[in-house]
This record gives sequence, C-alpha cells and structure tokens, in this order.
Amino acid sequence: MNRNEFLFDRAKAHIPGGVNSPVRAFGSVGGTPRFVKRADGAYFWDADDKRYIDYIGSWGPAIVGHARREVIDAVKAAADFGLSFGAPTEGEITIAEEICKLLPSIEQVRLVSSGTEATMSAIRLARGFTGRDAIVKFEGCYHGHSDSLLVKAGSGLLTFGNPSSAGVPADFSKHTLVLEYNNVEQLANTFAQIGDTIACVILEPIAGNMNLIKPSAEFLAALRGLTEKHGALLIYDEVMTGFRVGLGCAQGLHGIRPDLTTLGKVVGGGMPLAAFGGRADVMGKIAPLGPVYQAGTLSGNPLAVAAGLATLNIIQQPGFYETLSARTAKLAEGLAAAARDAGVPMCADSVGGMFGVYFSDTVPQRFADVTASDRERFNRFFHAMLDEGVYLAPSAYEAGFVSIAHSDEDIAATVDAARRALSRV
Ligand code: PMP
Repeated sequence: MNRNEFLFDRAKAHIPGGVNSPVRAFGSVGGTPRFVKRADGAYFWDADDKRYIDYIGSWGPAIVGHARREVIDAVKAAADFGLSFGAPTEGEITIAEEICKLLPSIEQVRLVSSGTEATMSAIRLARGFTGRDAIVKFEGCYHGHSDSLLVKAGSGLLTFGNPSSAGVPADFSKHTLVLEYNNVEQLANTFAQIGDTIACVILEPIAGNMNLIKPSAEFLAALRGLTEKHGALLIYDEVMTGFRVGLGCAQGLHGIRPDLTTLGKVVGGGMPLAAFGGRADVMGKIAPLGPVYQAGTLSGNPLAVAAGLATLNIIQQPGFYETLSARTAKLAEGLAAAARDAGVPMCADSVGGMFGVYFSDTVPQRFADVTASDRERFNRFFHAMLDEGVYLAPSAYEAGFVSIAHSDEDIAATVDAARRALSRV
C-alpha cells in the first residue's frame, strides 16, 4: 500500500468519502485520490513524493501558479496583524475599487467567502429587487450548492425543475426553470410565455462545469435583450471565468454588460474569497441599505483580501493574458493533434487560461453533447496521464486550467505524455 492509499483509508474513517468536496474522491474515474503534500508553480507533489504538472490549479484560483512569492508574502504580512476582526478594514475598500475598475458593470460589490454564497446572495437580491420568484438556469451550468440551484431540468419545456440532490424540497425547485444552453428559441419561447414573472437568468457566460462550452453570440445577445425587455436581471456567474478568460472576464470578451456578476476562485488568489456586485440601484437593496438580508462573520477576511489583491496585481502586468492564452491554446492544439495522430476521436478547445478536452468528434455545444462523449475512454486517458505525471480534472465534465507558471516546456512535456497515453487508450 502506498502512502496515498494509506491516507485515503485513514481519511474515510472520519471524513465522509474521505474528502471535503465530492469530485476529489475520484468517484467517476476510479482509483485513489492523490493527497497533496506541497505545490510550487505549475507542479504539486503527492504523499508519495511523485510530481505532477497540475492542470486543476485548485479548480481555478491558482492562475499565477502555486505558492507564488508575492501572494504568500502578502498573506504572511497580513497574518502578522491578526486573522479576523469582524469590523471593516482598508484592504476591503482597495479590492472593491480594483474589482469595480476592472469590471465596469460592477458599480458596487460585496465580498463573501465562497462562490456558493455569491450566487445564492445574488439570486436573493434579484428576487428582492424585482419582487418575483422564478429564476432561470441552464442545464450543465453549476452555480454552487444552494437549494434553488441544485435543480435539474423537468420533463418538458416550461416545466419547472426537479431537485438534483436529496434534501432539497420540491417546493424550492418549483421556482427554478432549467433550459438548454445555447438554445435561443427555447429561451425566447420561455420569455414570451412567462417573461414577466422571471426575477433573473443566471448562467456561466462560458461554461466550465460541463467541460468547456462556449456560448454563441446569438445566445448571449438574446439573454441580454430578453431580460432587459421583461425587467428580469441578467446574472453572469463568473466564479470560474472571472479573471480566468481575460482581465475583463467573459463579459469583457463578449462586450455584454450584465446586471449582476459573481466572482470567486481567482479573485481570492487561493484563499476563501468570492464576491457579487453590479448595478448600484440593485446593490442598494442589500442590508444595511435595503431589505435583502446578507451577512458573513468572515466576509472580507484580511488574509483572503491580501491574497486576492496580490493576485489581481500580478494579472494586470502587461502581457499576462496574451502569454497565458497562447500557452493554453498551444496545449489544446497539441492535445488535439496528438489525438488525430493516434486515430482517437478526441478534440480540444480553449479560451484564456481555460481548456476543454472532449472524447467526441466535435466540440460540444450543450450538456447533452457532453453526456454523449466517450467517458470510459476519458477515464482511461485520465489514468494514463496520471501515470505520466500529468494531473487533469478527474471527470469528463470538468474544464482544465493553465497558470502563468506553466512553461512552454511543461506544455510540450504534457503533449508528449498525451501521445504516449493516447496510444494506450
Ligand atoms: N459558480 C461556478 C461557475 C463555479 O464553477 C463554482 C465552483 N466550481 C461555484 C459557483 C461555487 O463556488 P464554491 O465552490 O466556491 O462554492
């Protein structure tokens, strides 16, 4: 038994499934999760001291690489002054100013501690602002684990959703309508029939929780046009895409101004920090200014703010996203070429520092396309890459993340590893 196996057995005795978040357990790919001992730049080392090129980066936050000196030093310096006060600090103002500067759609912003809190609060705010109950989400988009968002599509068009988790009352999910991503006609029909009862539409403006799926320009334009026309708020959940696909996030790439935006992951630089913000008239409805309640003991935590500010500082250095995007595109192109040469039906796509690898002939447009991909082959590829020292997300439904610490040599080594792995799958 190696050390990872030993730790997994030990973990399972006192932690459900041995993990503190389900996908870490390797449930869909099988095998033993790697327990991380330490990380540096593009790499981490597991409990058996094996090194991996890491393409998860803590599921997105590690865009400047692991243990980047400026970030670690900022957190250490903040820690010397105390860990948490439950009273305002100057750092919170500075990070709010930075966020509002980088995202013109955000006039006011509130800090929270997780992406789940950010989306849950944004939805409550949208309901409080509009006085409406119904919300629209899209199949395959993940917005955290709050009750009204753990909902899957109902049996037909315009039927409200069903809980996708035990413990969510059907009464909660009956306010959530689940539509198909990139389906403009279905969206237009929905708004034509019940548009005036919809509080908000929430989406991942580039989806990363059903592998990487890009929206069509028509879909984005319809979302903005229809919500505006019917007085519903448009919420861009940029917890994953925020500062990942570009300095102006997905909304900057697409030139769309949402009413509310949620951020997480990169904005906290690896510490528990997330945010929601947007139009000042909407944000003015939150306590203590307005009737929509929202709060948090650790919200705006000084260590998290320090890590976030240090990270936002680095990503604004000239050329950061050009370099990151070029390396990520090179990886996606290299993986697709390796698959072509091996005669394996696999393609790849990327945007900014985010990429998708799909065991299908074409790049998927919606959740159903991803479920139709060859997941058995993905699982074999995942394990072959793991043996090669390359750590991909342990699920065919997840996107991958590249950091600025991934060098051209790391990318080339990964593509070489993929060539060997693809010959075995
Ligand atoms: N929204 C999106 C788009 C996400 O990708 C995630 C997490 N992967 C969340 C919300 C939830 O964030 P957290 O895990 O920090 O609660």
